[in-house]
Amino acid sequence: MECLFCKIAKGEVPSDIVYEDDKIIAFKDIHPKAPVHILILPKKHIPSVNQLEPEDKELVGESILVAQKIAKEQGVDKTGYRLIFNIGKDAGETIGHLHLHLLGGKRLP
Ligand code: 5GP
Ligand code: ZN
Repeated sequence: MECLFCKIAKGEVPSDIVYEDDKIIAFKDIHPKAPVHILILPKKHIPSVNQLEPEDKELVGESILVAQKIAKEQGVDKTGYRLIFNIGKDAGETIGHLHLHLLGGKRLP
């Protein structure tokens, strides 16, 4: 079975999309851990940071620039926010498709 985030990227599974271009998609996390909780990911299926290749560096850079733009749109650029990649079980990673969490809108623990 194809991965959930690939399905969301293709529009086969609905999500609350806040940004999309040909390479990157960003949508609201279904179980938000902060008032602003957005997931930003390359549409290309890269399992995690562990599998990143040099050819992916532009995608990662673009993902962070998309996060910057969303942070501004969501009004947390001045108050602060956190960008997180979870890698593997000790980090609590549950979905094996590279994604960046953008969390903000409250004082984060
Ligand atoms: P991870 O723990 O792998 O870093 O993060 C996966 C995130 O995906 C979790 O925060 C979880 O709430 C979110 N998530 C899981 N399934 C769905 C879904 O079907 N739709 C959306 N929008 N988010 C999801
Ligand atoms: Zn995938």
